[in-house]
This record gives sequence, C-alpha cells and structure tokens, in this order.
Amino acid sequence: MQQLRVAVVGAGAAGLCAARHILSRPDTFAPPVVYELTEHVGGTWYYEERTGSYDNGLFIHSSMYRDLRTNLPKEVMMFPDFPFDPQLPSFLPHQEVQKYLERYCQSHCITPHIRFSTVVDEVSPVVTEGKGPMVTWEVTSRDKSGSRNTETFDSVFICSGHYSDPHIPSIPGLERFKGKVIHSHSYRHPEPFSGQSVVVLGAGASGLDISLELGRSNAQVTLSHGKPTLPFPLPYGVHQATPVEEIQEDGSLRFQDGSITQAQVLLLCTGYNFSYPFLEPARLGLEVQEHLVTPLYRFLMPPAFPSLFIIGICKIICPFPHFHCQVQFALAVLEGSVALPSRAEMEEEAQGEMARKVERGVQLRHMLKMDKEQWGYAQTLAQTGRFPPLPPVTQSLYEEVWRQRQVHPQNYRQLNYRLVSDTQWEQQELHAGE
Ligand code: FAD
Repeated sequence: MQQLRVAVVGAGAAGLCAARHILSRPDTFAPPVVYELTEHVGGTWYYEERTGSYDNGLFIHSSMYRDLRTNLPKEVMMFPDFPFDPQLPSFLPHQEVQKYLERYCQSHCITPHIRFSTVVDEVSPVVTEGKGPMVTWEVTSRDKSGSRNTETFDSVFICSGHYSDPHIPSIPGLERFKGKVIHSHSYRHPEPFSGQSVVVLGAGASGLDISLELGRSNAQVTLSHGKPTLPFPLPYGVHQATPVEEIQEDGSLRFQDGSITQAQVLLLCTGYNFSYPFLEPARLGLEVQEHLVTPLYRFLMPPAFPSLFIIGICKIICPFPHFHCQVQFALAVLEGSVALPSRAEMEEEAQGEMARKVERGVQLRHMLKMDKEQWGYAQTLAQTGRFPPLPPVTQSLYEEVWRQRQVHPQNYRQLNYRLVSDTQWEQQELHAGE
C-alpha cells in the first residue's frame, strides 16, 4: 500500500504530538510535513517579549506572560508516554514546558520534518470521482522569502491553536475610555502597571492570575466578572466588581450593580476567538463562530470531510493527554481501523451533542468546554481507536488540583505531587523555597 501523506499545521504541543505518532507508523504514513509560521517549536509555550507583530507583519502567536507558572502539575500535564524531568517541581515556569516540548521534538526526531517560518495560507479539499468520490488536500504555504508553494496530501491535521486571536467584548462606549485598553494576549509583566488603577475584565485562569500579579506589584486592581463572588480572600489592592456595563460619557466605567469608577487601564482577559483564516468553512460544511465550530464529529472532524482533523479545539481539558488521544484516534481513522458512520450519522451525532447542551442551558460560548466530560470522551476515543486509555490517575489528580485551585488560587502551586501507580498519586512536602 502507498504511504499516506499528512500535513500538520503548527508545531506547538498538538502538532508535535501529531508528528510523533505519524512518524511511529512508517508502514502506513510517509513522514509528515509540519508547517510552522515561527522559527521555533512550542507555540504558546515559546515566550515572546514582543507584542504586536513579527517582522513579516503576522501577529505574534503566543499569549504567554513572563511569570506564568502552569496551572496543572507536570504529572497531569505530560504526554502519557513522555514524562517531565522527575527532579522538577509539579507546577512549572513556562520555560520548563518549552524545554520539555523541545526535548519531545528531539527525542522523536521531528525537527527535520518541520518547515519553519512558513505560514499556511490555504487548505482546500480536492474531490475527484473514481469508484467513489476521493478527497485529497491542497496546502498552500508561504515561506520567509514570500514564495508560495502548493502541495497535495491525503489528510491534514490542523494544530494551529486557539489562544491567539483576542476576543474583544462589545462594551457600550468602549471608545470613550480615556486610558489604555489592552488584551491579555499582549500582557507580559506587571511592572508597567505599578501604582496604576487597572480594571481587569474576566476571572478565568488568566484574569485571576494576572490580577494577583498586578496586586503584588502595587496596582489597584478591580477584578470585574460575572461569576458568583469568588469564595477566597484576594490580596491587598485587589477587589471584585460586577461586569462592566458601559463606559460613560466622561470615560468612567459603570458596573452592573450601578457603581462607577475611573481607571487608567482596562485589561481585557476575555478569551480568544476561533480563527482559521486558511480554511473555507462553508466549503467544508462547517460554521466557524467566535466561540464555536460546528458540526465536528467527536469534536475533531467535519463529517463532510473526515480526513481533516482539528486537534485540541475543546476547552477546560487536560491539553497534552487530550491531544495524545485525539491524534491516535485520527490516525486509526486514516488507517481504516475505525469504521466511521455515514456523513448523515456523524452530523446527527455532532448536532445531537450540541442540542443536549442547549437543553441543559449551556450558552453558545461554553459549548466546547468539556470539563468532566473529557474523561469519558478520551476513554471512548481509546476504545474505538484501540489504543491504551489514559491512566485513571490523570483524572483523579486533575480533579484534586482543580479543587485546590478553587479554594487556594494563590498557593495551590506550592504543592508537589508524585505518581505512585496508574491509579494513585501522593502529595509530597512543599517544594524547597516555597
Ligand atoms: P499552540 O501552542 O498555540 O501552537 C500552535 C502553533 O501553530 C504555533 O506554533 C503557531 O505558530 C502555529 N501556527 C498557527 N497558525 C499557523 C499557520 N497558518 N501556518 C503555520 N503555523 C501556524 N495548558 C496546560 O496544559 N497547562 C497550563 O498551565 C496552561 N497554561 C496556559 C496559559 C496560557 C496563557 C495559555 C494561552 C494557554 C495555556 N495552556 C495551558 C493551554 C495551551 O494552549 C496548551 O497547553 C497547548 O500549548 C496548546 O497547544 P497547540 O499546539 O494546540 O497550540
């Protein structure tokens, strides 16, 4: 049988995982072509001090900030078949994750297959009629010199991430704000905000983390969010407020509860839009909205074109283990060891999934959040794709850390964990220096 040719868009964690598993199956797959718009691997984990654009005019990809430490312990974050250095503490500075991904890349000999500084501009299906319709993919890329190149593949893995295109909420009167408006995508460190009054919008992982950083750096922080009042004490200098409802004529901010404040900075920690500028969604039978891409069978592939895989589109997941399962399932589909249902059945399943969420009252922007559903999902992929499931310890430790994070957002990262077996973990003494 002729080897299948696969293109991978992006050399972040998802793209490296795809490349690693493709390379491990030389009987079925030719070495992949991995397109990467930057000069390095790592994606999100490659810290860029710069904000704005690269020299070639493309927007900076990574939203990493200087002092970020992981919000998952390394024991849960790792690809299940590639541990972090056991000497490291559980919660890592971002530099250690970048080193880990570089080591993953080296150990699996992925680098020779990456085209760095090469942006994918277009991915389009080509349907030819033989015994039945046959689909191949044309991938058009542009290198540093600007020269364009189109190549043909049997399958494409989209691993371009979804934390790069800032979501700017529509706040009435936003243009009237007299201070500085920035999005967390362009936040790097707290020093420029020292002594300033900052309204942080959104109390997700970044909003909370950044508020605490700013508070420690002597900024006066108002953390404005629509969640119930956070059930833990915030440090001096940080207080909570209801969502911003309007920017008034004089540039002040009016909150939902009617209170009003002036601020020098409005820091939007309001998430990111899905953005696939190289795809023509309608042609693929897909609809791409700010917070949703539908229909995707198994949150992975358009039913009309099940040789295109979008890896890691879901949120509130354990990302690396999730990629590890999705990639292996996708390869099992390409190998033919997973028999896919008909297009109509796949559409029905994907739409049924969304309809059930709507019935449960899930808002459109939360549709791709998995949370507790991620474990059953990973298990189903493993069973259907016939590869080893995630060890149960991943779920139990993830849930423990999640609990700790809700109660101790300022110091849950001081704990260290150790995996004892596939089902058991133990908590260790505090890391030296904490
Ligand atoms: P990315 O890392 O975004 O990589 C995508 C790659 O695709 C990039 O290298 C990009 O340059 C390339 N690319 C994009 N478009 C193109 C194109 N058109 N052509 C060619 N190349 C392209 N996860 C955790 O597990 N633990 C954490 O503690 C954690 N903290 C986080 C903190 C922040 C601030 C953010 C933003 C995310 C965090 N995450 C965390 C989630 C993180 O996104 C995932 O861990 C993971 O890095 C996502 O990998 P990815 O490969 O899907 O995307």
